[in-house]
Amino acid sequence: MAVIKKTLKIDSSSDFQIINITNDIVTILNDINKEKNISVGIVNIFTKHSTSAICVNENEKGLLNDFEKVLKDIVKENDNYEHDFIDNNAASHIRAFLLGSSETVPIVDGRLDLGTWQSIFFVELDGPRRGRTIDLTFMGE
Ligand code: ZN
Repeated sequence: MAVIKKTLKIDSSSDFQIINITNDIVTILNDINKEKNISVGIVNIFTKHSTSAICVNENEKGLLNDFEKVLKDIVKENDNYEHDFIDNNAASHIRAFLLGSSETVPIVDGRLDLGTWQSIFFVELDGPRRGRTIDLTFMGE
């Protein structure tokens, strides 16, 4: 079995941003499969930042706007958060708590085995930031 670690760097351009990283991961998987061939396995996609998240869902513009609205309704921007006294970004952290820091996607026949309407997103919750780091761990054979 092969275990292959890769890193993806993402720049965000606004405070809240949903960035589709599916094609970046497909490109990396295709590069891996030129040599080491992971035909069947998984890839874990893990953000290294506690004010960002990784999510799988549908890449539909209206839905992404709805998702932003609901997340901001659930977690208000300023609500006397204790963390705001030391870092002023508590809402970003709390939104990240709710969404989670990783997703695992199956690989079948050397390809990401996503559903027809599924994409993989990096969710920026405290941008804009340069060089957000996403760890990719491919495992399979
Ligand atoms: Zn903080």
